[in-house]
Amino acid sequence: MIYFDNAASTPVDKRVLKAMEPYWQESFANSSSIHFLGKKVHKAVEDAREIVARFLGSKSDEIIFTSGATESNNIAIKGIIKGILFEKEQACICCKPQKPHIISLKIEHHSVSKPIEEMQKMGMAEITLFSVEPDGILDIGKFKEAIKNNTRLVSVMYANNEIGTIQPVKEIAEILKEENKKRDENSRIYFHTDASQGYSLDCNTDNLGVDALSFSAHKFYGPKGIGVLFLRENTPFIPIINGGKHEGGKRAGTQNVPAIAGLAKAIELINPVETDKTRELRDSLLYRIKEEISGFQVNGSMENRIGGNLNISFDGLEGESLMLKLSDAGIAVSTGSACAIGEPGVSYVLDDLGLTPRQAHSSIRISLGRQNTRKEIIKFVKVLKREVGELRRIAGK
Ligand code: PMP
Repeated sequence: MIYFDNAASTPVDKRVLKAMEPYWQESFANSSSIHFLGKKVHKAVEDAREIVARFLGSKSDEIIFTSGATESNNIAIKGIIKGILFEKEQACICCKPQKPHIISLKIEHHSVSKPIEEMQKMGMAEITLFSVEPDGILDIGKFKEAIKNNTRLVSVMYANNEIGTIQPVKEIAEILKEENKKRDENSRIYFHTDASQGYSLDCNTDNLGVDALSFSAHKFYGPKGIGVLFLRENTPFIPIINGGKHEGGKRAGTQNVPAIAGLAKAIELINPVETDKTRELRDSLLYRIKEEISGFQVNGSMENRIGGNLNISFDGLEGESLMLKLSDAGIAVSTGSACAIGEPGVSYVLDDLGLTPRQAHSSIRISLGRQNTRKEIIKFVKVLKREVGELRRIAGK
């Protein structure tokens, strides 16, 4: 098997599994219980929170454990907008003088764009969804011009899941910082980023200048079903998941302790040397493809792109057919994002880049991880060349 679909999910590292082990049976208690075993488990959760906080350069009470980035994105957007609308005064939505305006990107993951659209449909926000440039990156000048007096929330992803392009998050934060100097607390703009694909980049929330940041552990060798929302103190927020007083009252529900311990271990194992190795491997893969196969284009900027990602359109074939042929040969790649499976039409990300439907239909996403090897690259290119040739032959008949 060759697994080149690490942007969808990564295998759990053995050291992560080991860190999770005690919390299934030995220390299984509810972390909210105040007896000796509950206290022990509670300490494990708070130690994990410290590790996450250190990774993000934040305070530990700014860390909220969630079920993953989908939840983090949803509660960030809905919770902040509700906070802006109702935290200070409880008047009904029709009595508000102006709806908050949200700026975001068309290429955002659906766990960001759907809640934003829902806020608009429910009459709780006005929205502007930006197209990126043909290289997959937001034009910062156009972004600046889109800011309005009632803009209150910006949500721009750190790195895209389909094409791996990195957005100018720090530059956006600088613009917002200048804008906020002219505003009071009641008109301040808050900045959220979905960093689900950005774990290998600088995730220090002060360096990034964000007020909220989301990610999932399974993108970096941690377990599925656990994620984080960083929410800077004093950011308006009304909880979306109500119940007990867990997570500082911001997200109710019994804590998933084994997964929290696994997430913290996975963070400790993030290693820039391995990130560089993955990038080198990706570059050598592209070099080999160039040597062996003609008639393709890489989608999105190569300069501003996370290390493991290659999104390629091959002329004269269907990306889905190629993905299935590779799958039959025991090689896992994807077409677009795993989360968009089942949705008709072309990738909305590639469409936003300005690709023709034919080009967008002919793409595959190859995403490498730290477990991949040079030997796999050599084998992959051999099979890829054979299958691309075969599909083009069939299409030409
Ligand atoms: N945002 C991005 C950019 C992603 O890649 C993903 C996972 N595909 C998510 C959000 C959602 O993560 P999860 O499915 O773990 O909730």
